[in-house]
Amino acid sequence: MAKLFQHQTLGDLMAGFFDGSMTIEALLKEGNYGIGTMDHLDGELIVIDGKAYQAKENGELVVLKGDETVPYAAVTDFTPDQTFTVNELFTLDEWHQYLKGKLKSLSTFSVIRIEGSFDFMHTRVIPRVEEPFPRFIDASRKQPEFKQENVKGTCIGIYGPYLFEGVVKQGFHCHFISEDKNFGGHIIDYRINHADVSVQTVTDFHQHFATNNPAFMNATVNYDNLITEINESE
Ligand code: ZN
Repeated sequence: MAKLFQHQTLGDLMAGFFDGSMTIEALLKEGNYGIGTMDHLDGELIVIDGKAYQAKENGELVVLKGDETVPYAAVTDFTPDQTFTVNELFTLDEWHQYLKGKLKSLSTFSVIRIEGSFDFMHTRVIPRVEEPFPRFIDASRKQPEFKQENVKGTCIGIYGPYLFEGVVKQGFHCHFISEDKNFGGHIIDYRINHADVSVQTVTDFHQHFATNNPAFMNATVNYDNLITEINESE
């Protein structure tokens, strides 16, 4: 079984539920590899090889201890069912088309690990917000961006099928962490120089909800413009 565990949905994050409702310690029990964001949208979450890192808006990367919380994350115990290497120079659109062609199916989720050297890596980090929480689209309008050239590291990606748009981001959602673990974030653009790619085709999708968050449990959530907002801000 290749299970993808998701805590909360991207749609509810978009609607402004930014309170952390699951600890990193509990999340790591569900998987050793994945992505997400932090309590109060305090940066980007990167989970790799069983360790969790927070990319902060000042550009710092911090190792998480376990008691920090997340409002949204998706993790898996990464067990790839196919691997291949890439040495070609692609634009991001070309690469995504190529990668889609390599996935065993576009009807289920895939989890992807792209490890290697990159000509450039362009990331952004969502900045922390305070209550009352805005919608994600408004919180995402001023995000610090970071660029490095000739960087080694890993892209942690999830492919979400069309049917699940709103529950997740449809298409690719990728975070980066450098080999030296001091640069990372949500990927805007990148170009592979040379990379080893591994892909896990997901057999089981486990959707977990923040039943411990009364604000979420008692809300009538406004999902108007949800897909537009996801496409604009993710
Ligand atoms: Zn992201």
